[in-house]
Amino acid sequence: MRVQTDKLKQMVNVFIIGAGDGGKAVLSRLLQFNWFQIMGVADLNPYAPGIYLAREANIPVFLENPLHLLQNMTIDLVFDLTGNPTVGRELVRISENNFDVATGEVAHVLWDVMQELEEREAGMKQRLGENQILLEISVMLSRSETPDEIFQEIVAGGMRITGMPAGSLSVYNPHKHQLFLVSTKGLSSEFYKNAVYPIRPGGLTEHILSHRDPILVPDLADFPSFNNPIVLKEGIRSLIAIPLISDKGPVGILYIDDFEPRRFPLTLSESLKMLATQAVIAIQKQQVFEQIKDLSIRDPLTGLYNRRYLNKVLVSEIGRALRLNRPLSLILVDIDHFKKINDQYGHVTGDQVLKRLTECFELEIRPYDILSRFGGEEFLLLMSETDEHEAVALAERLRRSAIGLRLLPHNEIMSCSFGVCSLQDIKKRPVSPEAFIQCADKALYRAKNAGRNQVCLYQES
Ligand code: GH3
Ligand code: MG
Ligand code: MG
Repeated sequence: MRVQTDKLKQMVNVFIIGAGDGGKAVLSRLLQFNWFQIMGVADLNPYAPGIYLAREANIPVFLENPLHLLQNMTIDLVFDLTGNPTVGRELVRISENNFDVATGEVAHVLWDVMQELEEREAGMKQRLGENQILLEISVMLSRSETPDEIFQEIVAGGMRITGMPAGSLSVYNPHKHQLFLVSTKGLSSEFYKNAVYPIRPGGLTEHILSHRDPILVPDLADFPSFNNPIVLKEGIRSLIAIPLISDKGPVGILYIDDFEPRRFPLTLSESLKMLATQAVIAIQKQQVFEQIKDLSIRDPLTGLYNRRYLNKVLVSEIGRALRLNRPLSLILVDIDHFKKINDQYGHVTGDQVLKRLTECFELEIRPYDILSRFGGEEFLLLMSETDEHEAVALAERLRRSAIGLRLLPHNEIMSCSFGVCSLQDIKKRPVSPEAFIQCADKALYRAKNAGRNQVCLYQES
Protein backbone atom coordinates (compact mmCIF):
# COMPACT_ATOMS: atom_id res chain seq x y z
CA MET A 1 0.00 0.00 0.00
CA ARG A 2 1.22 3.47 -0.77
CA VAL A 3 -0.50 5.13 2.15
CA GLN A 4 2.34 6.83 3.97
CA THR A 5 2.84 6.30 7.69
CA ASP A 6 3.30 10.01 8.26
CA LYS A 7 0.02 10.48 6.45
CA LEU A 8 -1.60 8.03 8.84
CA LYS A 9 -0.78 10.38 11.62
CA GLN A 10 -2.67 13.11 9.81
CA MET A 11 -5.86 12.15 8.02
CA VAL A 12 -6.56 9.40 5.57
CA ASN A 13 -9.11 10.38 2.95
CA VAL A 14 -11.33 7.43 2.20
CA PHE A 15 -14.02 6.70 -0.35
CA ILE A 16 -16.34 3.70 -0.18
CA ILE A 17 -17.88 2.16 -3.27
CA GLY A 18 -20.61 -0.35 -2.59
CA ALA A 19 -22.88 0.33 0.38
CA GLY A 20 -24.30 -3.15 0.92
CA ASP A 21 -23.78 -4.97 4.22
CA GLY A 22 -19.99 -5.07 3.69
CA GLY A 23 -19.84 -1.37 2.86
CA LYS A 24 -21.99 -0.50 5.82
CA ALA A 25 -19.82 -2.57 8.15
CA VAL A 26 -16.62 -0.90 6.89
CA LEU A 27 -18.22 2.52 7.18
CA SER A 28 -19.39 1.93 10.74
CA ARG A 29 -15.87 0.86 11.72
CA LEU A 30 -14.18 3.79 10.02
CA LEU A 31 -16.53 6.20 11.73
CA GLN A 32 -15.12 5.15 15.08
CA PHE A 33 -11.62 6.36 14.20
CA ASN A 34 -11.08 10.05 13.93
CA TRP A 35 -8.09 9.69 11.63
CA PHE A 36 -10.31 8.75 8.68
CA GLN A 37 -11.90 11.47 6.66
CA ILE A 38 -14.69 9.79 4.71
CA MET A 39 -15.07 11.66 1.44
CA GLY A 40 -18.09 9.79 0.17
CA VAL A 41 -20.09 6.61 -0.15
CA ALA A 42 -21.40 5.48 -3.50
CA ASP A 43 -23.98 2.88 -4.52
CA LEU A 44 -26.46 2.66 -7.37
CA ASN A 45 -29.07 1.40 -4.94
CA PRO A 46 -30.51 4.29 -2.90
CA TYR A 47 -31.84 1.79 -0.33
CA ALA A 48 -28.52 0.15 0.39
CA PRO A 49 -27.95 -0.05 4.19
CA GLY A 50 -24.64 1.82 3.97
CA ILE A 51 -26.37 4.75 2.26
CA TYR A 52 -28.66 5.21 5.23
CA LEU A 53 -25.75 5.11 7.62
CA ALA A 54 -23.77 7.60 5.51
CA ARG A 55 -26.67 10.04 5.52
CA GLU A 56 -27.02 9.74 9.29
CA ALA A 57 -23.33 10.50 9.66
CA ASN A 58 -23.51 13.48 7.27
CA ILE A 59 -21.23 11.88 4.71
CA PRO A 60 -21.66 12.75 1.02
CA VAL A 61 -23.67 10.10 -0.82
CA PHE A 62 -23.35 9.33 -4.52
CA LEU A 63 -26.06 7.28 -6.25
CA GLU A 64 -24.14 6.86 -9.47
CA ASN A 65 -20.96 5.34 -10.80
CA PRO A 66 -18.41 7.46 -8.93
CA LEU A 67 -15.30 6.58 -10.92
CA HIS A 68 -15.17 9.87 -12.83
CA LEU A 69 -15.56 11.81 -9.55
CA LEU A 70 -12.59 10.14 -7.90
CA GLN A 71 -10.18 11.66 -10.35
CA ASN A 72 -11.14 15.13 -9.16
CA MET A 73 -10.94 14.36 -5.45
CA THR A 74 -8.00 14.07 -3.09
CA ILE A 75 -8.39 10.45 -2.07
CA ASP A 76 -5.86 8.19 -0.34
CA LEU A 77 -7.80 4.97 -0.18
CA VAL A 78 -10.82 3.58 -1.98
CA PHE A 79 -12.73 0.64 -0.54
CA ASP A 80 -14.19 -1.38 -3.37
CA LEU A 81 -16.91 -3.45 -1.82
CA THR A 82 -18.93 -4.00 -4.98
CA GLY A 83 -17.47 -7.43 -5.68
CA ASN A 84 -17.77 -6.40 -9.31
CA PRO A 85 -14.59 -7.26 -11.37
CA THR A 86 -15.33 -4.51 -13.90
CA VAL A 87 -15.34 -1.86 -11.17
CA GLY A 88 -12.14 -3.38 -9.82
CA ARG A 89 -10.32 -3.24 -13.16
CA GLU A 90 -11.54 0.29 -13.81
CA LEU A 91 -10.31 1.43 -10.38
CA VAL A 92 -6.86 0.01 -10.98
CA ARG A 93 -6.73 1.80 -14.30
CA ILE A 94 -7.69 5.26 -12.97
CA SER A 95 -5.85 5.09 -9.65
CA GLU A 96 -2.51 5.99 -11.28
CA ASN A 97 -0.57 6.47 -8.09
CA ASN A 98 -3.27 8.78 -6.77
CA PHE A 99 -4.93 6.38 -4.37
CA ASP A 100 -4.84 2.83 -3.11
CA VAL A 101 -7.63 0.35 -3.60
CA ALA A 102 -8.80 -1.97 -0.86
CA THR A 103 -11.05 -4.79 -2.00
CA GLY A 104 -13.42 -6.80 0.14
CA GLU A 105 -10.59 -9.10 1.28
CA VAL A 106 -8.40 -6.24 2.40
CA ALA A 107 -11.41 -4.73 4.08
CA HIS A 108 -11.80 -7.97 6.03
CA VAL A 109 -8.23 -7.84 7.28
CA LEU A 110 -8.61 -4.20 8.22
CA TRP A 111 -11.85 -5.06 9.91
CA ASP A 112 -10.13 -7.68 12.06
CA VAL A 113 -7.28 -5.37 12.98
CA MET A 114 -9.71 -2.65 13.97
CA GLN A 115 -11.78 -5.10 15.93
CA GLU A 116 -8.69 -6.15 17.87
CA LEU A 117 -7.65 -2.56 18.47
CA GLU A 118 -11.08 -1.79 19.76
CA GLU A 119 -11.08 -4.78 22.11
CA ARG A 120 -7.65 -3.81 23.36
CA GLU A 121 -8.81 -0.31 24.01
CA ALA A 122 -11.89 -1.58 25.86
CA GLY A 123 -9.65 -3.93 27.89
CA MET A 124 -7.32 -1.08 28.73
CA LYS A 125 -10.22 1.11 29.82
CA GLN A 126 -11.56 -1.72 31.99
CA ARG A 127 -8.09 -2.25 33.46
CA LEU A 128 -7.64 1.44 34.09
CA GLY A 129 -10.99 1.55 35.89
CA GLU A 130 -10.00 -1.45 38.01
CA ASN A 131 -6.64 0.12 38.88
CA GLN A 132 -8.38 3.31 39.89
CA ILE A 133 -10.65 1.30 42.21
CA LEU A 134 -7.65 -0.63 43.59
CA LEU A 135 -5.95 2.63 44.43
CA GLU A 136 -9.04 3.90 46.20
CA ILE A 137 -9.37 0.65 48.13
CA SER A 138 -5.78 0.88 49.24
CA VAL A 139 -6.38 4.41 50.54
CA MET A 140 -9.56 3.32 52.33
CA LEU A 141 -7.78 0.34 53.88
CA SER A 142 -4.96 2.47 55.22
CA ARG A 143 -7.55 4.77 56.79
CA SER A 144 -9.53 1.96 58.45
CA GLU A 145 -8.82 1.53 62.11
CA THR A 146 -10.93 -1.21 63.63
CA PRO A 147 -10.92 -4.83 62.43
CA ASP A 148 -14.57 -4.49 61.38
CA GLU A 149 -13.80 -1.47 59.23
CA ILE A 150 -10.95 -3.27 57.52
CA PHE A 151 -13.01 -6.40 56.85
CA GLN A 152 -15.89 -4.32 55.46
CA GLU A 153 -13.57 -2.35 53.19
CA ILE A 154 -12.16 -5.56 51.75
CA VAL A 155 -15.62 -6.93 50.92
CA ALA A 156 -16.77 -3.57 49.55
CA GLY A 157 -13.60 -3.37 47.45
CA GLY A 158 -14.25 -6.78 45.90
CA MET A 159 -17.81 -5.75 45.10
CA ARG A 160 -16.75 -2.47 43.49
CA ILE A 161 -14.04 -3.95 41.35
CA THR A 162 -16.35 -6.66 40.02
CA GLY A 163 -19.54 -4.64 40.03
CA MET A 164 -21.21 -7.50 41.90
CA PRO A 165 -23.89 -6.92 44.55
CA ALA A 166 -22.77 -9.11 47.46
CA GLY A 167 -19.77 -10.62 49.17
CA SER A 168 -18.29 -12.05 52.34
CA LEU A 169 -14.94 -12.38 54.02
CA SER A 170 -13.76 -15.28 56.15
CA VAL A 171 -10.53 -15.18 58.11
CA TYR A 172 -8.41 -18.24 58.81
CA ASN A 173 -7.68 -19.30 62.38
CA PRO A 174 -4.50 -21.42 62.34
CA HIS A 175 -5.01 -22.75 65.88
CA LYS A 176 -8.38 -24.26 65.06
CA HIS A 177 -7.72 -24.80 61.34
CA GLN A 178 -11.05 -23.11 60.62
CA LEU A 179 -12.37 -20.13 58.74
CA PHE A 180 -14.47 -17.54 60.58
CA LEU A 181 -16.98 -15.41 58.72
CA VAL A 182 -16.07 -11.87 59.74
CA SER A 183 -17.97 -9.66 57.31
CA THR A 184 -20.82 -9.88 54.79
CA LYS A 185 -22.50 -7.37 52.50
CA GLY A 186 -25.66 -7.78 50.49
CA LEU A 187 -26.45 -11.17 52.06
CA SER A 188 -29.16 -12.22 54.50
CA SER A 189 -28.57 -12.70 58.22
CA GLU A 190 -28.96 -16.45 57.62
CA PHE A 191 -25.44 -16.31 56.30
CA TYR A 192 -24.07 -15.46 59.73
CA LYS A 193 -25.62 -18.49 61.37
CA ASN A 194 -22.94 -20.67 59.85
CA ALA A 195 -20.13 -18.44 60.89
CA VAL A 196 -17.45 -21.13 61.19
CA TYR A 197 -16.18 -23.28 58.35
CA PRO A 198 -13.98 -26.21 59.24
CA ILE A 199 -11.45 -27.00 56.52
CA ARG A 200 -12.25 -30.58 55.57
CA PRO A 201 -9.62 -32.53 53.64
CA GLY A 202 -10.72 -32.67 50.01
CA GLY A 203 -13.48 -30.13 50.69
CA LEU A 204 -14.24 -26.98 48.73
CA THR A 205 -12.56 -24.61 51.18
CA GLU A 206 -9.35 -26.58 51.06
CA HIS A 207 -9.59 -26.57 47.27
CA ILE A 208 -9.91 -22.79 47.16
CA LEU A 209 -7.07 -22.25 49.62
CA SER A 210 -4.78 -24.55 47.66
CA HIS A 211 -5.27 -22.27 44.63
CA ARG A 212 -3.10 -19.21 44.15
CA ASP A 213 -5.51 -17.58 41.72
CA PRO A 214 -9.11 -16.44 42.11
CA ILE A 215 -11.70 -18.99 41.04
CA LEU A 216 -14.36 -17.44 38.82
CA VAL A 217 -17.69 -19.24 38.55
CA PRO A 218 -19.87 -17.50 35.91
CA ASP A 219 -22.81 -19.83 36.53
CA LEU A 220 -23.12 -22.09 39.55
CA ALA A 221 -25.39 -24.38 37.56
CA ASP A 222 -22.25 -25.55 35.74
CA PHE A 223 -20.26 -26.14 38.94
CA PRO A 224 -22.20 -28.47 41.24
CA SER A 225 -19.26 -28.65 43.66
CA PHE A 226 -19.83 -24.99 44.58
CA ASN A 227 -23.52 -25.47 45.24
CA ASN A 228 -23.48 -25.65 49.01
CA PRO A 229 -26.91 -25.33 50.67
CA ILE A 230 -26.31 -21.90 52.23
CA VAL A 231 -25.16 -20.48 48.91
CA LEU A 232 -28.17 -21.96 47.11
CA LYS A 233 -30.57 -20.68 49.73
CA GLU A 234 -29.19 -17.16 49.31
CA GLY A 235 -30.01 -17.41 45.61
CA ILE A 236 -26.39 -16.91 44.56
CA ARG A 237 -25.90 -17.78 40.88
CA SER A 238 -22.35 -16.68 40.15
CA LEU A 239 -19.38 -16.11 42.39
CA ILE A 240 -15.70 -15.45 42.66
CA ALA A 241 -13.65 -17.12 45.38
CA ILE A 242 -10.43 -15.24 46.05
CA PRO A 243 -7.91 -17.14 48.18
CA LEU A 244 -6.04 -14.82 50.53
CA ILE A 245 -2.65 -16.40 51.05
CA SER A 246 0.48 -14.97 52.62
CA ASP A 247 3.97 -16.44 52.39
CA LYS A 248 3.27 -18.00 55.79
CA GLY A 249 0.05 -19.70 54.72
CA PRO A 250 -3.69 -19.08 54.39
CA VAL A 251 -5.12 -15.81 55.70
CA GLY A 252 -8.71 -16.16 54.52
CA ILE A 253 -11.11 -16.29 51.59
CA LEU A 254 -12.94 -13.38 49.99
CA TYR A 255 -16.15 -14.36 48.19
CA ILE A 256 -17.89 -12.00 45.78
CA ASP A 257 -21.40 -13.01 44.74
CA ASP A 258 -24.15 -12.23 42.29
CA PHE A 259 -27.71 -13.49 42.06
CA GLU A 260 -27.48 -13.73 38.27
CA PRO A 261 -25.09 -15.65 36.02
CA ARG A 262 -22.30 -13.36 34.82
CA ARG A 263 -19.58 -12.96 32.23
CA PHE A 264 -16.29 -11.81 33.69
CA PRO A 265 -13.89 -9.50 31.80
CA LEU A 266 -10.51 -11.04 31.00
CA THR A 267 -8.58 -8.45 32.97
CA LEU A 268 -10.49 -9.13 36.17
CA SER A 269 -8.37 -11.99 37.47
CA GLU A 270 -5.21 -9.86 37.59
CA SER A 271 -6.97 -7.04 39.41
CA LEU A 272 -8.46 -9.47 41.90
CA LYS A 273 -5.00 -10.83 42.63
CA MET A 274 -3.85 -7.31 43.41
CA LEU A 275 -6.87 -6.82 45.62
CA ALA A 276 -6.00 -10.10 47.38
CA THR A 277 -2.47 -8.86 48.07
CA GLN A 278 -3.85 -5.67 49.59
CA ALA A 279 -6.37 -7.63 51.65
CA VAL A 280 -3.70 -10.01 52.97
CA ILE A 281 -1.48 -7.12 54.05
CA ALA A 282 -4.38 -5.30 55.72
CA ILE A 283 -5.54 -8.41 57.60
CA GLN A 284 -2.02 -9.33 58.70
CA LYS A 285 -1.30 -5.81 59.89
CA GLN A 286 -4.51 -5.96 61.85
CA GLN A 287 -3.60 -9.34 63.38
CA VAL A 288 -0.12 -8.20 64.39
CA PHE A 289 -1.65 -5.11 65.96
CA GLU A 290 -4.10 -7.27 67.93
CA GLN A 291 -1.25 -9.52 69.06
CA ILE A 292 0.80 -6.57 70.27
CA LYS A 293 -2.23 -5.16 72.05
CA ASP A 294 -2.77 -8.58 73.61
CA LEU A 295 0.85 -8.84 74.69
CA SER A 296 0.53 -5.73 76.79
CA ILE A 297 -2.44 -7.05 78.72
CA ARG A 298 -1.69 -10.78 78.92
CA ASP A 299 0.70 -12.99 80.79
CA PRO A 300 2.79 -14.95 78.30
CA LEU A 301 2.95 -18.20 80.30
CA THR A 302 -0.74 -18.76 81.00
CA GLY A 303 -2.31 -16.38 78.46
CA LEU A 304 -4.34 -14.89 81.31
CA TYR A 305 -4.83 -11.16 81.77
CA ASN A 306 -2.01 -9.56 83.71
CA ARG A 307 -2.17 -7.56 86.89
CA ARG A 308 -2.01 -4.19 85.13
CA TYR A 309 -5.03 -5.00 82.97
CA LEU A 310 -6.99 -6.29 85.94
CA ASN A 311 -6.31 -3.12 87.89
CA LYS A 312 -7.75 -1.10 85.03
CA VAL A 313 -10.87 -3.27 84.82
CA LEU A 314 -11.24 -3.12 88.59
CA VAL A 315 -11.48 0.68 88.55
CA SER A 316 -14.42 0.65 86.13
CA GLU A 317 -16.09 -2.41 87.66
CA ILE A 318 -15.97 -1.02 91.20
CA GLY A 319 -17.36 2.29 89.92
CA ARG A 320 -20.17 0.55 88.09
CA ALA A 321 -21.08 -1.77 90.99
CA LEU A 322 -21.22 1.09 93.50
CA ARG A 323 -23.15 3.37 91.17
CA LEU A 324 -25.79 0.79 90.31
CA ASN A 325 -25.62 -0.96 93.67
CA ARG A 326 -24.75 -4.32 92.08
CA PRO A 327 -22.76 -7.13 93.72
CA LEU A 328 -19.09 -7.58 92.82
CA SER A 329 -16.66 -10.15 94.21
CA LEU A 330 -12.98 -11.06 94.10
CA ILE A 331 -11.23 -14.39 94.71
CA LEU A 332 -7.49 -14.39 95.34
CA VAL A 333 -5.97 -17.84 94.82
CA ASP A 334 -2.51 -18.95 95.97
CA ILE A 335 -1.01 -22.37 95.36
CA ASP A 336 0.02 -24.10 98.57
CA HIS A 337 3.71 -24.91 99.05
CA PHE A 338 4.49 -24.12 95.44
CA LYS A 339 8.11 -23.47 96.32
CA LYS A 340 8.45 -27.14 97.26
CA ILE A 341 7.09 -28.21 93.86
CA ASN A 342 9.70 -26.08 92.13
CA ASP A 343 12.44 -27.32 94.41
CA GLN A 344 11.51 -30.95 93.99
CA TYR A 345 10.66 -31.12 90.26
CA GLY A 346 12.21 -28.00 88.80
CA HIS A 347 10.86 -24.81 87.31
CA VAL A 348 9.70 -26.37 84.05
CA THR A 349 7.34 -28.70 85.90
CA GLY A 350 6.29 -25.73 88.03
CA ASP A 351 5.43 -23.77 84.89
CA GLN A 352 3.51 -26.72 83.50
CA VAL A 353 1.47 -26.90 86.69
CA LEU A 354 0.62 -23.21 86.43
CA LYS A 355 -0.62 -23.69 82.87
CA ARG A 356 -2.70 -26.77 83.64
CA LEU A 357 -4.23 -25.18 86.70
CA THR A 358 -5.19 -22.15 84.60
CA GLU A 359 -6.95 -24.38 82.07
CA CYS A 360 -8.79 -26.11 84.89
CA PHE A 361 -9.95 -22.81 86.40
CA GLU A 362 -11.05 -21.47 83.03
CA LEU A 363 -13.39 -24.43 82.61
CA GLU A 364 -15.10 -23.64 85.91
CA ILE A 365 -15.66 -19.92 85.56
CA ARG A 366 -18.29 -18.09 83.50
CA PRO A 367 -17.27 -16.43 80.24
CA TYR A 368 -17.67 -12.95 81.71
CA ASP A 369 -15.62 -13.64 84.84
CA ILE A 370 -12.16 -12.16 84.50
CA LEU A 371 -9.31 -14.43 85.56
CA SER A 372 -5.85 -12.89 85.79
CA ARG A 373 -2.41 -13.98 86.86
CA PHE A 374 -1.79 -11.72 89.79
CA GLY A 375 1.70 -12.84 90.77
CA GLY A 376 3.98 -15.88 90.53
CA GLU A 377 1.58 -18.56 91.76
CA GLU A 378 -1.33 -16.30 92.54
CA PHE A 379 -4.49 -15.75 90.55
CA LEU A 380 -7.15 -13.11 90.93
CA LEU A 381 -10.69 -13.71 89.74
CA LEU A 382 -13.09 -10.80 89.33
CA MET A 383 -16.79 -11.60 89.16
CA SER A 384 -19.42 -9.00 88.38
CA GLU A 385 -23.03 -9.60 89.44
CA THR A 386 -21.78 -12.08 92.06
CA ASP A 387 -22.36 -11.82 95.78
CA GLU A 388 -20.27 -13.37 98.58
CA HIS A 389 -22.29 -16.61 98.74
CA GLU A 390 -21.92 -17.28 95.03
CA ALA A 391 -18.26 -16.32 95.20
CA VAL A 392 -17.57 -18.67 98.09
CA ALA A 393 -19.40 -21.47 96.29
CA LEU A 394 -17.29 -20.93 93.17
CA ALA A 395 -14.07 -20.79 95.23
CA GLU A 396 -15.06 -24.12 96.79
CA ARG A 397 -15.55 -25.62 93.33
CA LEU A 398 -12.16 -24.34 92.23
CA ARG A 399 -10.54 -25.72 95.38
CA ARG A 400 -11.97 -29.18 94.76
CA SER A 401 -11.03 -29.19 91.08
CA ALA A 402 -7.45 -28.22 91.97
CA ILE A 403 -6.93 -31.11 94.35
CA GLY A 404 -8.53 -33.46 91.85
CA LEU A 405 -6.04 -32.56 89.14
CA ARG A 406 -3.03 -34.63 90.28
CA LEU A 407 -0.56 -32.84 88.06
CA LEU A 408 2.59 -33.86 89.89
CA PRO A 409 4.88 -36.71 88.83
CA HIS A 410 4.00 -38.93 91.81
CA ASN A 411 0.33 -38.04 91.85
CA GLU A 412 0.74 -35.99 94.98
CA ILE A 413 -2.14 -33.70 95.87
CA MET A 414 -1.53 -30.07 95.04
CA SER A 415 -3.87 -27.69 96.80
CA CYS A 416 -4.69 -24.00 96.73
CA SER A 417 -5.94 -21.52 99.29
CA PHE A 418 -8.66 -18.98 98.54
CA GLY A 419 -9.45 -15.55 99.91
CA VAL A 420 -12.90 -14.30 98.92
CA CYS A 421 -14.09 -10.71 99.26
CA SER A 422 -17.32 -9.02 98.20
CA LEU A 423 -17.54 -5.30 97.63
CA GLN A 424 -20.59 -5.08 99.91
CA ASP A 425 -18.52 -6.37 102.84
CA ILE A 426 -16.15 -3.42 102.73
CA LYS A 427 -17.64 -0.59 104.71
CA LYS A 428 -15.08 2.14 104.04
CA ARG A 429 -15.83 4.35 101.00
CA PRO A 430 -14.56 4.98 98.39
CA VAL A 431 -13.05 1.58 97.59
CA SER A 432 -9.84 1.59 95.56
CA PRO A 433 -8.74 -1.50 93.60
CA GLU A 434 -5.80 -1.83 96.01
CA ALA A 435 -8.09 -1.77 99.04
CA PHE A 436 -10.42 -4.33 97.47
CA ILE A 437 -7.51 -6.69 96.69
CA GLN A 438 -6.01 -6.14 100.13
CA CYS A 439 -9.25 -7.35 101.73
CA ALA A 440 -9.17 -10.50 99.56
CA ASP A 441 -5.52 -10.94 100.57
CA LYS A 442 -6.46 -10.73 104.25
CA ALA A 443 -8.97 -13.54 103.74
CA LEU A 444 -6.32 -15.56 101.89
CA TYR A 445 -3.89 -15.05 104.74
CA ARG A 446 -6.46 -16.47 107.11
CA ALA A 447 -6.97 -19.50 104.86
CA LYS A 448 -3.21 -20.12 104.82
CA ASN A 449 -2.96 -19.76 108.59
CA ALA A 450 -5.88 -22.06 109.17
CA GLY A 451 -4.00 -24.89 107.43
CA ARG A 452 -4.25 -24.09 103.68
CA ASN A 453 -6.44 -25.93 101.13
CA GLN A 454 -9.48 -23.90 102.16
CA VAL A 455 -11.70 -20.96 101.34
CA CYS A 456 -12.00 -17.96 103.65
CA LEU A 457 -14.37 -15.03 103.30
CA TYR A 458 -13.29 -11.51 104.21
CA GLN A 459 -15.11 -10.13 107.19
CA GLU A 460 -14.56 -6.75 108.80
CA SER A 461 -13.58 -7.25 112.41
P1 GH3 B 1 2.47 -20.99 100.50
O1 GH3 B 1 1.66 -22.23 100.68
O2 GH3 B 1 2.68 -20.26 101.78
O3 GH3 B 1 1.90 -20.14 99.47
O4 GH3 B 1 3.91 -21.49 100.04
P2 GH3 B 1 4.57 -21.24 98.66
O5 GH3 B 1 5.78 -22.08 98.59
O6 GH3 B 1 3.59 -21.48 97.58
O7 GH3 B 1 4.88 -19.72 98.70
P3 GH3 B 1 6.11 -18.84 98.39
O8 GH3 B 1 5.59 -17.46 98.19
O9 GH3 B 1 7.16 -19.05 99.44
O10 GH3 B 1 6.70 -19.40 97.04
C1 GH3 B 1 6.13 -19.13 95.80
C2 GH3 B 1 7.00 -19.79 94.80
O11 GH3 B 1 6.46 -19.69 93.49
C3 GH3 B 1 8.37 -19.21 94.72
C4 GH3 B 1 8.66 -19.01 93.25
O12 GH3 B 1 9.87 -19.61 92.87
C5 GH3 B 1 7.52 -19.74 92.59
N1 GH3 B 1 7.17 -19.09 91.36
C6 GH3 B 1 6.75 -17.82 91.18
N2 GH3 B 1 6.51 -17.59 89.88
C7 GH3 B 1 6.81 -18.73 89.20
C8 GH3 B 1 6.75 -19.12 87.82
O13 GH3 B 1 6.41 -18.35 86.93
N3 GH3 B 1 7.12 -20.38 87.51
C9 GH3 B 1 7.51 -21.26 88.48
N4 GH3 B 1 7.84 -22.49 88.11
N5 GH3 B 1 7.57 -20.92 89.76
C10 GH3 B 1 7.20 -19.68 90.13
MG1 MG C 1 2.36 -16.72 96.93
MG1 MG D 1 1.92 -20.18 97.52
